[in-house]
Amino acid sequence: MARYVYNFGDGNKDLKDLLGGKGANLAEMTRMGLPVPPGFTITTLACREYLRTGSVPAGLFEEVEEHLREIQARMDKRLGDRGDPLLLSVRSGGKFSMPGMMETILDIGLTDTSVLGLAARSGDARFAWDSYRRLIQMFGRTVFDVPAEAFESELTGARAHAGVTSDAELGVAELQDLVRAYKKVFHAHAGRDFPQAPHEQLYLAITAVFSSWNAERAVLYRRQERIPQDLGTAVNVMAMVFGNRGADSGTGVAFTRDPATGRRGVYGDYLTNAQGEDVVAGIRNTVSLHELATIDPRSYRQLLSVMERLEQRYRDLCDIEFTIENGKLWMLQTRVGKRTPAAAFVIAGQLVDEGTITLDEALQRVTGEQLAQLMFPSFDPTALPTPLTTGVPASPGAAVGAIVLDSAAAAAASGPVILVRRETNPDDLAGMIAAQGILTSRGGKTSHAAVVARGMGKTCVCGAEELVIDTEAETVTVHGTVLHAGDIVSLDGTTGRVYPGAVPVHPSPVVRYFEGELSPANDPLLAAVQRLMTHADHTRRLGVHANADTATDAERARRFGATGIGLCRTEHMFLGDRRTLVERLILADDDTERDAALAALLPLQRADFIDLFTAMDGLPVTIRLIDPPLHEFLPALEDLTARVAGAEALGRDPGHDAVLLTAVRRMHEQNPMLGLRGVRLGLVIPGLFAMQVRAIAEAAARRVADGGDPRPEIMVPLVGAVQELETVRAEAEAVLAGIGGAPPIRIGTMIEVPRAALTAGEIAKSAQFFSFGTNDLTQMTWAFSRDDVEGAFFSRYLSLGIFTASPFETIDTTGVGELIQIAVARGRAARPDLTIGVCGEHGGDPASVRFFHRTGLDYVSCSPFRIPIARLEAGRAATADATTSDSR
Ligand code: PEP
Ligand code: MG
Repeated sequence: MARYVYNFGDGNKDLKDLLGGKGANLAEMTRMGLPVPPGFTITTLACREYLRTGSVPAGLFEEVEEHLREIQARMDKRLGDRGDPLLLSVRSGGKFSMPGMMETILDIGLTDTSVLGLAARSGDARFAWDSYRRLIQMFGRTVFDVPAEAFESELTGARAHAGVTSDAELGVAELQDLVRAYKKVFHAHAGRDFPQAPHEQLYLAITAVFSSWNAERAVLYRRQERIPQDLGTAVNVMAMVFGNRGADSGTGVAFTRDPATGRRGVYGDYLTNAQGEDVVAGIRNTVSLHELATIDPRSYRQLLSVMERLEQRYRDLCDIEFTIENGKLWMLQTRVGKRTPAAAFVIAGQLVDEGTITLDEALQRVTGEQLAQLMFPSFDPTALPTPLTTGVPASPGAAVGAIVLDSAAAAAASGPVILVRRETNPDDLAGMIAAQGILTSRGGKTSHAAVVARGMGKTCVCGAEELVIDTEAETVTVHGTVLHAGDIVSLDGTTGRVYPGAVPVHPSPVVRYFEGELSPANDPLLAAVQRLMTHADHTRRLGVHANADTATDAERARRFGATGIGLCRTEHMFLGDRRTLVERLILADDDTERDAALAALLPLQRADFIDLFTAMDGLPVTIRLIDPPLHEFLPALEDLTARVAGAEALGRDPGHDAVLLTAVRRMHEQNPMLGLRGVRLGLVIPGLFAMQVRAIAEAAARRVADGGDPRPEIMVPLVGAVQELETVRAEAEAVLAGIGGAPPIRIGTMIEVPRAALTAGEIAKSAQFFSFGTNDLTQMTWAFSRDDVEGAFFSRYLSLGIFTASPFETIDTTGVGELIQIAVARGRAARPDLTIGVCGEHGGDPASVRFFHRTGLDYVSCSPFRIPIARLEAGRAATADATTSDSR
């Protein structure tokens, strides 16, 4: 028969799966000989059985009785005793901490008779009756779902009747009346009397804790925190000790280091003559733990020694809950403590210095998410007004500026501005560069605004659908509030919240360190970041490249540690003034006009590439041939139609607009993402790819002539069939053959169409490298439009548990990931020396980086600001087997 109950002394800290975090840690403390009240843990297995079958597993309560006898013997008290009753606490405790989500019941064992025993024995009738009324209240609410208000209204009535304002002022007689009233409330709602058999109380409490695993808030919390739903909770039953037994009693919490900054020392709070719940409820003000040294020096010294032993045992920051009962210290709980991102880095570094952990372990103590949080500028949390609205948090950070509704105005503005658009397109780039932040009412995390903003490290909130943007009236309306161009707003790209007015902002010292502006000397946080990044670089197997299209971005990426460019999106080079050249190309009626347009673009492209190769001298630069549908370079159909109609209505000649309108109508696509784009453009528009290839090779030749070391690679987008790649490659090779002085240039392809993943074996024969375009691959595998769906239904999908995270953010390992694994296996089988990277947005996402490491990719490529995060996570992935600590 399975064993369902463990004495605290029988377990240890590594049994979290079975005993839950709290139970495993109580067991560890008991084994260490620390003063833990006697008790036992009912395993998560018992809970899972209960949840599966709807009834308590056979034999469980017999086992409980057996262990209860031991507690009684050790405490020399009996449950329900009318002379000196043992009281019990019953607490939930799953593998991962879920603060306040599940149930706790204290003072089990109090009945109409044992309350008298407690009163007599403690010499404090008030304490006994107050404990009894608390039990009925907590038990009624938890076990029988008696509404909290029903008890509350009795309590309020009792206070009013006694003419007092706080519960603490109620006397014995009033508490006895209250117990009577509570029992009536209990009967009315539960349909039975409050149980007077203490063992029945215990069994019912245990069952209620099991059931609380599936309470709605607990389910939601787990979904949010990505905790599996099928783990179940353990139940800890422990002899009660009381911190509310007078001035020589009390309760407190302690941290072995400061969880906010990581500084060494003793941190915590203490409350004399109180129980834990009083501290949580904040009824009275706590004092600093240091004051315990004066209040009760013996317990304080003992606590310090316990803290030191716990740190040594857990090799990490511990948080502790303790109670002092009549001068005797009791440990009620410990765990590896939660901490801020800054403290996580600082503590990891300290523990290495102290010789407690290795550098490999230190890497496991921090996460890419924590580093990301340290890299954002942030709003002063004490100064936040009520948000106007909330959108998709697309690119983190904090930005404040005046609203501008068009990009030209943003680019021309003298002060800080927030560019507010329904959505952005390549035309908005200048405005986006100029703006502090970008706010759109449409689109999700891979919309144009989001991708470009992340690339620039610029704050962006997109898909804020409640915003009504009127570009004519120059207003933004939200819930009846009308904002005008020029009004100040503040964007929090980390939460997606939009605030009215200017919220104060703190810049990130960690970014300033990566930029080379701050030295890590004398700054514990920066020193820790530097040390862990160095170790991550030393251990990681994945390369980290950047998605960058400009020399400025490339230089920053290099400062941030990129060792190449994994994706240069060349379409970004066709914006601004050059759009007219693309327009000429699109409108060309014959070869001569088209060749002239291409010839005009060639030197411009060449100059761009020279800049890029200079910035990335000695490192690979993967240049993707033009990808988006060309009509993206023409004005929008609606705008042109309006302009032409307007001109005609006034009897004017619409001129060039009419020509453009015809072209736009001709090129209009119902599903542009599935239309004439990527490699298809190269096959349909003669000379376009050849011009780009020529520009790349000539730029490289120029750099070589100037003594540089350019390492270009050519990447073909949206390939689905090897024949597409072969055709483009043949054309490219012909161009390259005609240009002297350039280094060898590898030609590869993106894998971003499911068919490419499936036929990777064929494609690899023609490709020297693969780069997974996981944005398109996700879009096409799920059949989700990346520009539309995030705002439309992702929140619903998340709340339904269909996703645990947006698949555009964190790679869907089971679906899209499977395609990636297939492509890697087939590609490498066909060409063992195939280089494989990823350049979709997932390249900078911590969980995805770990997946790419496991899948055996050679590098990830991500926006410059995500480079340090990818480096850190790649290092963590490589050292993941060292050891793990879990502060969840
Ligand atoms: C991709 O699809 O993942 C990719 C990098 O290309 P883009 O986002 O430019 O379509
Ligand atoms: Mg793509």
